[in-house]
Amino acid sequence: MPVPAEPSIFSRIVAREIPANIYAETDTLIAIADIAPKAPVHILIVPKSEGYANVVELAAGDPGLLAEMIALAAQLAAEHADGDFRLVFNTGAGAGQTVFHVHAHLLAGSLEEGSLA
Ligand code: IMP
Repeated sequence: MPVPAEPSIFSRIVAREIPANIYAETDTLIAIADIAPKAPVHILIVPKSEGYANVVELAAGDPGLLAEMIALAAQLAAEHADGDFRLVFNTGAGAGQTVFHVHAHLLAGSLEEGSLA
């Protein structure tokens, strides 16, 4: 698994080089407020390791970690909204992915049609 030469913005948040509003942190994951929220609750769930660029790579390489991300999403949606949520993995630049360090957008709280990250 090649590691990118420059740390991603999320790796810099994990290293506390950049401030973030942290919702949760485990040995393997960090959950932070999206800096440009698209929903009342918009949290990014990010593996601390930068080894996977997108969810397809993560599912193939570490499906257990993907399951951890989904479990944390459900926990945070219950804690910060009514428990219902949308989980978005932008995959590829053409789909709007801008940070190539896999992350899930957790969107919750009175979602409107079209409120995709
Ligand atoms: P993507 O477009 O699916 O790759 O999502 C990247 C997300 O990271 C976007 O929703 C950005 O608003 C968010 N983002 C970029 N920089 C920061 C930051 O420093 N803190 C929190 N969120 C960020």
